[in-house]
Amino acid sequence: MSATDGMRADWASKDFYAELGVKKDATADEIKKAYRKLARANHPDSHPGDTAKHEKFKVVAEAYDVVGDAEKRKKYDEMRQLYGSGGGFRPGGGGGGAGGFDINDLLRDRAGGGGFGDMFGDLFGGARGRPQQQQRRPQKGADVETTATIGFTDAIEGVTISLRLTSDAPCPDCSGTGGKPGTKPHICRECEGAGFVVASVGGAFTMNETCPACGGRQLVYDQACPTCHGSGHGLSARSIQARIPAGVKDGAKIRLKGKGAPGEQGGPAGDLFVTVKVTPHRVFGRKGDNLTLDVPVSFDEAALGGEVKIPTLGGAPVTLKLPAGTPNGRTFRVRGKGATRRDGSKGDLLATIEVQVPATLDQTAREALEAYRAATAGKPLRAGLFDG
Ligand SMILES: [Zn+2]
Ligand SMILES: [Zn+2]
Repeated sequence: MSATDGMRADWASKDFYAELGVKKDATADEIKKAYRKLARANHPDSHPGDTAKHEKFKVVAEAYDVVGDAEKRKKYDEMRQLYGSGGGFRPGGGGGGAGGFDINDLLRDRAGGGGFGDMFGDLFGGARGRPQQQQRRPQKGADVETTATIGFTDAIEGVTISLRLTSDAPCPDCSGTGGKPGTKPHICRECEGAGFVVASVGGAFTMNETCPACGGRQLVYDQACPTCHGSGHGLSARSIQARIPAGVKDGAKIRLKGKGAPGEQGGPAGDLFVTVKVTPHRVFGRKGDNLTLDVPVSFDEAALGGEVKIPTLGGAPVTLKLPAGTPNGRTFRVRGKGATRRDGSKGDLLATIEVQVPATLDQTAREALEAYRAATAGKPLRAGLFDG
């Protein structure tokens, strides 16, 4: 079998004639008539919300695509004969096969492109472009990424945030058909309702291409849906609550299991990845699990020593005991007043002394400093700069 003949592994398990309600030896004309009748009777537009009819519509379209095409019908008949009429052989059974043999595994990469997945993906807004045999198995939903900005304190303490997520969905007004609501479609004349046309790619090979007239939808509306302008695509929005753990760092990516796109065919939901941006704090900084704080002190506090009250994040202030002669830039560690670690323990608060020089002096202060200068004269600070 060549890669371009469009033959599919799952045909063997399907009775397309029964789906169309025709005999195995029905003529092409009888098959076409049966298909049109069933397609009309089960069309999603005439039965909004009726999933059983939607399913039937898909099934008959698939059946007609195969047995409505002389070439494919011949291959289908051969395949059915080869494997029996779907009795014991179940391709694509989702891994339950007793012998461990799955014809899909052999054919997956060889099956022709542009299968039904494309067609119905466009029509019903799900699983665009996936080969059909995969679509039928439980599928994990897609992972979704988003960003969230939280406050500095929330990042330290943890916070529950509300996220609004939008994702691709069928247009709500036309249910993804692309047609103006209330109007009736007609079967595409270009592809006669098959959804694809056969294009020659040279030599003996032909390939199925999505029908340019109906875009694979099989049906055409004379008036486009005003909401989606005929594309059938829309967006759905949902709100979810997400717990951001304590101690999260700026730029961290948090994985929320099962909060991504819903799964298909009973598969699990995908994950949501939230990149967290943390707004800076007015006075506190962050270094790993530790918080940092610059503490302005006056020259006399540094020189004489003293008690300095400093704030902590979300707690009561603490008092730093400065020893006499504390140099500018010295860092004091206040244990347990930092960010919360993953194990629930806490980092430290690192308080760094910044000695301030007064910009202006009143009379008394000036006299005091001049007295200080006189008292310390003769102790050159910079002698060492000129040594050697
Ligand atoms: Zn068409
Ligand atoms: Zn629409």
